Amino acid sequence: MCVSLRGESKLNINLVNFMELVDKVLPFEGEIATDAINEYIDGFKIIDPIKYKGQIFKINGSYLVNADISYKYETKCDRCFETTIKELTTSLSAKLKDYSEQYEDNEDENEDVIYYNKGSLDLEEYILMEVASSLPMKTLCDETCKGLCPGCGIDLNKESCTCQDDYIDPRFEQLKDFFITE
Ligand SMILES: [Zn+2]
Ligand SMILES: [Zn+2]
Repeated sequence: MCVSLRGESKLNINLVNFMELVDKVLPFEGEIATDAINEYIDGFKIIDPIKYKGQIFKINGSYLVNADISYKYETKCDRCFETTIKELTTSLSAKLKDYSEQYEDNEDENEDVIYYNKGSLDLEEYILMEVASSLPMKTLCDETCKGLCPGCGIDLNKESCTCQDDYIDPRFEQLKDFFITE
């Protein structure tokens, strides 16, 4: 990882003590400021703070981490281009591995892996990467958003116009002629 998304990390877990206690579950929770991540995402602004809550536990000899993440983001509606704020939840689930084993063959290629280094786990960066990759392709201000009139460009959520009935998508223009001549 050559690009660091985080600023000063607060979520740095010391795994050394934990790993000596075989059956214990290690819970964690907190918040992350978003200045750093907002420099890397185009067209979105994450509104502070990102909240996370999770646990580390041991199963079949492996350490696993789970975390639920929730955040708010601001973007433009895909149909009417109004500024829209939405809340989203996502989750992180991965196997913990020592950084020194990063080039060893992974038994399961589909498994997500989070690396710790020298007994210390910095989860904040992984949480930020999960947030960045969970941002949706499309956001609507509302499921019923009517968007902009393709004819005159007014916001059909706020106003109505008369060109709507006459408007024919240019892609169907030829089809119209076809039906008339038939
Ligand atoms: Zn809209
Ligand atoms: Zn119109």
